[in-house]
Amino acid sequence: MQRFAGVDYFDIESLLNEDEKMVRNSVREFVDVEIIPIIEKHYRENSFPMHIVPKLGELGLFGITLPQKYGCAEMNNVAYGLVMQELERGDSGVRSFVSVQSSLVMYPIFTFGSDEQKDYWLPKLASGEKIGCFGLTEPDFGSNPGGMVTRAEKVSGGYKLNGAKMWITNGTLADVAVVWAKLDGEIHGFLVEKGMPGFSAPEMKGKHSLKASVTSELIFQDVVIPEKNILPGSKGLKSPLMCLNQARYGIAWGVVGSMMECYNTALNYAKSRVQFGKPIAAYQMTQEKLVYMLNEITKSQLLNLQLGRLKDLGKVKHTQISMAKRNNCEKALEVARMSREILGANGILDEYPVMRHSANLESVKTYEGTHEMHTLIIGEDITGFSAFE
Ligand SMILES: Cc1cc2nc3c(=O)[nH]c(=O)nc-3n(C[C@H](O)[C@H](O)[C@H](O)COP(=O)(O)OP(=O)(O)OC[C@H]3O[C@@H](n4cnc5c(N)ncnc54)[C@H](O)[C@@H]3O)c2cc1C
Repeated sequence: MQRFAGVDYFDIESLLNEDEKMVRNSVREFVDVEIIPIIEKHYRENSFPMHIVPKLGELGLFGITLPQKYGCAEMNNVAYGLVMQELERGDSGVRSFVSVQSSLVMYPIFTFGSDEQKDYWLPKLASGEKIGCFGLTEPDFGSNPGGMVTRAEKVSGGYKLNGAKMWITNGTLADVAVVWAKLDGEIHGFLVEKGMPGFSAPEMKGKHSLKASVTSELIFQDVVIPEKNILPGSKGLKSPLMCLNQARYGIAWGVVGSMMECYNTALNYAKSRVQFGKPIAAYQMTQEKLVYMLNEITKSQLLNLQLGRLKDLGKVKHTQISMAKRNNCEKALEVARMSREILGANGILDEYPVMRHSANLESVKTYEGTHEMHTLIIGEDITGFSAFE
């Protein structure tokens, strides 16, 4: 089998250290061997390839930046980004699985959890023995999560939860849900465990995007949660937004993987597809498209690398993460659509990965803050005026 060689027009390789290259290479090979051969089947059948979960754990990809004492790899943020990039070259659903487990479940337990919660959950989530999900979005509150109506009420020995979440990645699969709810008017995080009476997580059907990923509703009807299951360090909307910041960072890197796969497919196809007696790669308009794609990949790669270096220095601003998420998702969608054009009718077949990536990227552009919300976040930063509050 031919291994993916990467797309690196600006010798970004020379800016990576040995650990970063090593983890990138091992995930790249894993995707070639374990994901690409099976993913179209799962996409067609609307299923997530559960058999890869222990392997993702063995590779140390869950919570990769967290401390070794919890069974994690304790690598830097650039390594984390490269992992996301390689996984999303396979499929956005696989990257979403690892993003949610790492940034939206392990990160909040690590950051806001008690020692008991960390000691119990983090090693199990790191190995993939347990699966988590993150419940913030509600049917009537997406871009404006602060308006949430899910409520926790103090009762003897714990809290009673009522409400519903929607669009929750891994919800049906999860052993533990990090759920955001208002307690006395203020947002807090709660760990809701599978099987708690009154809690259900039905799968949402009918998606045309992220079909190799499970998306669910979370329903809470008088769910009584023990006192020990509140995340004691969480307080206010800032807490879930801190988690989203981690996940958005991973998305900015991830979509470069989709772009690389679409560009690579289009380049190879254009060199071998002959029309009017010449390969279509020899025509100026095809070259313009390929150059545009490569140019956008290169810009996104450089944006990501500097973002990662700033994050490792503890200097990154959430608005910079918004810029990378906003730019890279939009450009990835453009690149996927251009790739589809270059493949002509073949571009719509699942024999090629481009239509799947294109459809996936519609979700990726929307979740973790839509393109418009990231525009307004950056707009507020540079003008001082909030256009959405
Ligand atoms: C496949 C998938 C998986 C997901 N996984 C999760 C998950 O695991 N956990 C979770 O909590 N959520 C998850 N989400 C939800 C996701 O984060 C939300 O869909 C997203 O935040 C947008 O919310 P919404 O869909 O309600 O859109 P809305 O907020 O209703 O927005 C609709 C449109 O209006 C625009 N808009 C809204 N407000 C403004 C404004 N002030 N100015 C200009 N334009 C505006 C938006 O940009 C968008 O274009 C997932 C979504 C998808 C599709």
